[in-house]
Amino acid sequence: MSNMTPQDYMDREDTYGAHNYHPLPVVLEKGEGVFMWDVEGKKYYDFLSAYSAVNQGHCHPKIINALVEQAKTLTLTSRAFYNNVLGEFEEFATKFFGYDKLLPMNTGAEADETALKLCRKWAYEKKGIADNKAKIIVCDGNFHGRTITIISMSTDPDSYKGFGPYTPGFEVVPYNDIPALEKSLEDPNVAGFLVEPIQGEAGVYVPDSGYLKKAYDLCKAKNVLFIADEVQTGLARTGKMLACDHEGVRPDILILGKALSGGTYPVSCVLADDEIMLCIKPGEHGSTYGGNPVAGKVAIAALSILKDENLCERSETLGALFRDELNKINHPAKELVRGKGLLNAVVIKPYKGKTAWDFCLALKENGLLAKPTHQHIIRFAPPLIISEEQILECVAIIKKTFEEF
Ligand code: PLP
Repeated sequence: MSNMTPQDYMDREDTYGAHNYHPLPVVLEKGEGVFMWDVEGKKYYDFLSAYSAVNQGHCHPKIINALVEQAKTLTLTSRAFYNNVLGEFEEFATKFFGYDKLLPMNTGAEADETALKLCRKWAYEKKGIADNKAKIIVCDGNFHGRTITIISMSTDPDSYKGFGPYTPGFEVVPYNDIPALEKSLEDPNVAGFLVEPIQGEAGVYVPDSGYLKKAYDLCKAKNVLFIADEVQTGLARTGKMLACDHEGVRPDILILGKALSGGTYPVSCVLADDEIMLCIKPGEHGSTYGGNPVAGKVAIAALSILKDENLCERSETLGALFRDELNKINHPAKELVRGKGLLNAVVIKPYKGKTAWDFCLALKENGLLAKPTHQHIIRFAPPLIISEEQILECVAIIKKTFEEF
């Protein structure tokens, strides 16, 4: 295998794999901390962090150790039986985030689906909405995953077009628009409001300061559940443990994924208090792998690292430095820089017929991996363990790439 060229690897994926992604042409074989290496040994800064799953850095020794030790002991029992780790994880995570209960799943999309089911069940059992009438409000530009129900709420044709018929029961309001939300909340059949505190996939759209708090208060006034999808924004990425923490908002239902395992294993969960969580009864929801002992040990390690290594503070400080430095770059292709903590984006203007994709190709040549989202936006989200010196080195790489562009 070692005599394969990068092109061979890419061709093989292209031949045998479905064409549902359009990767940057780089073939990676190793990761450590903030770095990844390709099959030819070239080293790169990782500025995507697997869409914010690798907040703790690649192959964090504590997570890998937890993974390996548990994998040698017991990996899967299913939920047909108890295991000796799930309760430990549930106790740890509920105390960590301050909720009564946790429901474990695997992927972000599954956790979002879980939250939607939980919200509907609560609507019928507690709020008294008539059967099949519950409505959930979502935002224009949302991204919550790829299942049929989730794409039914999407406003991005790439996500939904050609996959109908769609799941009913959702209403879309503009993001960051309080009057629009207020109007939609007038319908007594509204059960929940599902929102990303910062829209990640849409292009790192940061709402106005105060938006989340006002939205939360409006939901409370109408007995509507405020559901935060923190799959991408959560776990120290934006400079606080949760992006909702910036406004002191405690979601009724909290959705976590990605960095809950530090990039080693699919682990997601939903957190809520008893009043909501106990609406789902045995047999009404679940997952074969959700809550397995490896996931439990990995998640405990991943969460511990966030606090032990002060990743919230690091993300906040280094994020501010990163934006300050990028704002100093003067180039006709650079439109603006936005973000919070270490979840940032640079918006690129069309320049000499080149796009954000071309810019990412050039960044790759200069030793930094980032991925465009949409035509003109580049997300910059390195592992949160990055040092100040490394951030400045990366700013220099980005600056150099602009100069060459
Ligand atoms: N929710 C948000 C906010 C996301 O950004 C994503 C993925 O990017 C998801 C949900 C879906 O997560 P997964 O790909 O693990 O299903």
